[in-house]
Amino acid sequence: MQKLKKRSWAEPFKIKTVELLKVTTREERNRALKEAGYNTFLLKSEDVYIDLLTDSGTNAMSDYQWAGLMLGDEAYAGSKNFYNLEEKVQQFYGYKYLVPTHQGRGAEHLISQILIKPGDFVPGNMYFTTTRLHQELAGGTFVDIIIDEAHDPTSTYPFKGNIDLQKLDDLVKRVGAKRVPYVSVAGTVNMAGGQPISMENLRQVRQLCKNHGIRIVLDATRLMENAYFIKIREKGYQQKTIAEILGEMCSYSDACTMSGKKDLLVNIGGFLALREHEQEIFEEARNLVVVYEGLHTYGGLAGRDMEAMARGIEEAVSEDHLRARIGQVEYVGEKLLGIGIPIVLPIGGHAIFLDAKRFLPHLKQVEFPAQTLAAELYLESGIRSMERGIVSAGRNKETGDHYHPKLELVRLTFPRRVYTQAHCDVTAEAVEAVYENRESVKGLRMVYEPKYLRFFQARFEKLP
Ligand SMILES: *Cc1c(COP(=O)(O)O)cnc(C)c1O
Repeated sequence: MQKLKKRSWAEPFKIKTVELLKVTTREERNRALKEAGYNTFLLKSEDVYIDLLTDSGTNAMSDYQWAGLMLGDEAYAGSKNFYNLEEKVQQFYGYKYLVPTHQGRGAEHLISQILIKPGDFVPGNMYFTTTRLHQELAGGTFVDIIIDEAHDPTSTYPFKGNIDLQKLDDLVKRVGAKRVPYVSVAGTVNMAGGQPISMENLRQVRQLCKNHGIRIVLDATRLMENAYFIKIREKGYQQKTIAEILGEMCSYSDACTMSGKKDLLVNIGGFLALREHEQEIFEEARNLVVVYEGLHTYGGLAGRDMEAMARGIEEAVSEDHLRARIGQVEYVGEKLLGIGIPIVLPIGGHAIFLDAKRFLPHLKQVEFPAQTLAAELYLESGIRSMERGIVSAGRNKETGDHYHPKLELVRLTFPRRVYTQAHCDVTAEAVEAVYENRESVKGLRMVYEPKYLRFFQARFEKLP
């Protein structure tokens, strides 16, 4: 008899409420896909079976968080939920000052407007769509300084989110430290496949920035997940708690922007947080937030949303939670590897990234292989994924040409605490079915292109 492969964890929760799923026919999906212009962002959620579009705001809240909603203090000013959130941010992230925002991009907007002047350069460990756009809208130019390994989907380097210190140093030498308002450092780099940055690297970046008098602004969106990777992969951190690792990471920064819709297990919310020495920047942010988001003690959120986020922080730092969350992604990834599907390695923290260039090698990049693959997976199974390739990369604002990113990926993103292991099995089987028919798959052409963040609303037609 074959021995069962041991898995040392199960979901660290049980199910109290269920949401029913709709199963569609292939004909219905074909119709829905055409109507959506072959863009999975334009599908109606009710036509989707397993929704792996994003892990943003799609988390399942706990009974503890739902109970917190009832304790929402909806006062216009000075809500007690704000003070609770502030306390949790201080306790776990170590930032003194908190400016709540409706979600992550609200915080990115504030910090970009305050710190970036036209003509500035903002280096970062790979771009994120909204982050880069806010940097550009403020007049800055984003410069990618992530290590080369991050652009190689076959490299198994354990910290592909690391910054190339040489690239950072070269940039500062070339443009001068005065033109670099801050280094934008993301934890578990989304666009690189959910790859972590090491503590050692972060410490070195801090030292280099200190020498030049340059700030570090963390994108803390998935920092808890990064902390978990450090704990299991980096020497010297096995005995530390997630909270300790998180606190150390933040101590190497001056401020952070946060999308609570990821790590913090809520459906909406975000914040800008700043260290004690950044009181001046905090005061500017507090002035600006009133213009764009709402009063500085709610920033576009209801009191109940702030309470849910505060409680989410407490649950998200739990190692059991992170083990199961990252373990679930790993489980699907291992399954796909086992049947020979090309995916980005190492398996990331929040998602599996199918390598569309290797999956559909007969398609040129301008035929949108990743967009095509996401559409085919939906057609096959009702599973919704998203493109992370040439469509997401957008166009160069000077030349008007497509950016041609090295990575042409389809992201299967796992919402936290939402799907079971059986959903994971079905997902792997669906990808396998598309892979078996890959040679007959035709590409797409773009027939509508919006000006900003085009991947959200672009429309396509099937090539003949
Ligand atoms: C989602 C995300 C953001 C933006 O946050 P929103 O809440 O969607 O506005 C910024 N950075 C990263 C890494 C993200 O994943």
